[in-house]
Amino acid sequence: MFESIDMAPPDAILGLTEAFCNDLNPDKINLSVGVYQDAHGRTPILACVKEAEKRILHQEQTKAYKPIQGSADYAVVVQALLLGPDHEIIANRRAVTAHTPGGTGALRVAADYLKKMHSKVTVWLSEPTWPNHPGIFQATGLPIKTYPYFDGATNGLAFDAMLAALRRVRAGDVVVLHGGCHNPTGIDPSPDQWERIAEVLAERKAVPLVDFAYQGFATGFRDDAAGLLRLCRPGCELFVCSSFSKNFGLYNERVGALTVIAGSTESAQKVLSQVKACIRANYSNPPAHGAAIVTTVLNDPGLRRQWEDEVKQMRDRINRMRKLFVETLTRKGVKADMSFITRQHGMFSFSGLTQSQVQTLRDEHSIYIVGTGRINVAGMTEANMDRLCQAIAAVVNS
Ligand code: PMP
Repeated sequence: MFESIDMAPPDAILGLTEAFCNDLNPDKINLSVGVYQDAHGRTPILACVKEAEKRILHQEQTKAYKPIQGSADYAVVVQALLLGPDHEIIANRRAVTAHTPGGTGALRVAADYLKKMHSKVTVWLSEPTWPNHPGIFQATGLPIKTYPYFDGATNGLAFDAMLAALRRVRAGDVVVLHGGCHNPTGIDPSPDQWERIAEVLAERKAVPLVDFAYQGFATGFRDDAAGLLRLCRPGCELFVCSSFSKNFGLYNERVGALTVIAGSTESAQKVLSQVKACIRANYSNPPAHGAAIVTTVLNDPGLRRQWEDEVKQMRDRINRMRKLFVETLTRKGVKADMSFITRQHGMFSFSGLTQSQVQTLRDEHSIYIVGTGRINVAGMTEANMDRLCQAIAAVVNS
């Protein structure tokens, strides 16, 4: 059976991390990984998470299975974080939430549900998008199309082209939108642009799927949900895939959520029953620990304040690095305007570096960047900034 199979291609980003680990240069810099790093290059456990874990360890009575969709109190905190606790959708019980293994799990359950119940739909992805998006939807056999997103001339949003493509979407098609901190570009629509996107999707009767992996990493929890809230019109239908990998630092606990918003309580319950059928045939029920942490922190006023403060520290550090990066590049005389980087959000930016520049940075300077030029700003520190910008100047100006 196994003699004739071919090797699968290595994951583009994880493969780079492997090469980084094998690099003997003590001054090597990794801007390719998708995790937050602090000023010492560490990916820390948040203090509020450690405290919640102590409480959970003390109070936990059983390791019995969770329900297929996870705990009900987790669903309550997830919906309140997304929509605000007083939203009409919550009051009218139009939303249902399943705890999934990470944001990836949420996307895959959504894809399975779509394939099972609405197999004729096309899924629309931004071009470019997180490289796992096509893989997840293709795995279920759903057809995929793309809409333009990045304008290389301005290093901004290709808004007119994006809207023009969305105007061609068929009724019932699913349009995947990044809720904020677009990965890989760092470019988010403005509030007015979100309003226009919401209008067009409503006109087309398209169903948004908001991939919300970085809530709190752009400007703050409520502000970051502004785009999502514009899509949440009376009677709307949509999917939200949450991830708590980044904003709780719970990468390896695999904690995320699929929230489906339907037109009525009855429809929401029917959808949940089908979502549960998909989960049952996949991983049966979710792992408990990460969701217990998220629920404990969000339900305790003191831990919640601490969490908001710790996320703010991560956000502020990233924004400081964006500024320092652009200032240092200018000081090093880089012959390219990279000021757009301070206007982008979250951990990632499209740097505008070409594939061959990226290769030279890796081969000659031990600086690891994804081939598309996507950089993880959180990999920058006050300590490595000078060397990084010196190398970029050498490569860009040559
Ligand atoms: N969506 C996007 C846009 C992401 O960047 C990521 C994480 N890289 C995810 C989803 C999935 O996150 P998780 O680790 O929670 O599965």
